[in-house]
Amino acid sequence: MTNPDDQPDSWEEPQRIMVVLAHPDDPEFFCGGSIARWTNTGHSVSYCLLTCGDKGTKDRDLSSEELCRMRREEQKAAAGVLGVRHVRFLDHPDGYLVSDLALRRDITRVIRQETPDILVTCDPTNLYVRDAYINHPDHRAAGQATLDAVFPAARDHLHFIELWRDEKLEPHIVKELWVSLPLQANVSLDMTDFWDTKINALLEHKSQIGDPEDLIERMRARHTQDSTLEDPVYCEHFRRIVFP
Ligand SMILES: [Zn+2]
Repeated sequence: MTNPDDQPDSWEEPQRIMVVLAHPDDPEFFCGGSIARWTNTGHSVSYCLLTCGDKGTKDRDLSSEELCRMRREEQKAAAGVLGVRHVRFLDHPDGYLVSDLALRRDITRVIRQETPDILVTCDPTNLYVRDAYINHPDHRAAGQATLDAVFPAARDHLHFIELWRDEKLEPHIVKELWVSLPLQANVSLDMTDFWDTKINALLEHKSQIGDPEDLIERMRARHTQDSTLEDPVYCEHFRRIVFP
């Protein structure tokens, strides 16, 4: 095990960390171990989810409204397992997220309200996942709109001037951007100590995960290639951008 003091997230002061992603369960799947580790070491983590996941079901008896209600509750429970301070939903429609100016403005507003030190999102350039999946278009749109909100929209008051002029929201510069699900990672954090917490958080997403035993087995199998199921090492990967 590496010395925790040498890790890229061994910040000296408590950090305000905001996670901006598309759907309920994205924070837990993409970086749930890291979130547990950060709250465990005294950092404050909040979520801003752009949709409530109101379309992803094969159950024909469920309406979007019911699904939305259910997914919000599951998300709050999962966030609770990880020690997250606050969950906010922006309620854009699931499946139709587009990285347009309206979405960029909404995220810019939240960045200026929450003034995070560290902002976590996902990689908009990641189109294929493990040669087995197409990365959801909402994930790509969420990542793109968030990067564009961080720079330059949140930084300069003349971007979306109504936020500054009418809503009195001052410009804000985040110190670091952590991009999960990256095409090219430059940070890998050892999550072995937090993998069970991540799985426990994922298990709260009851309407999304199917058979809990299958999920547990699948997640346990995600150990690093040079470790074993008997003596596993788990990692989460990011592209970390540190603004000068
Ligand atoms: Zn998702």
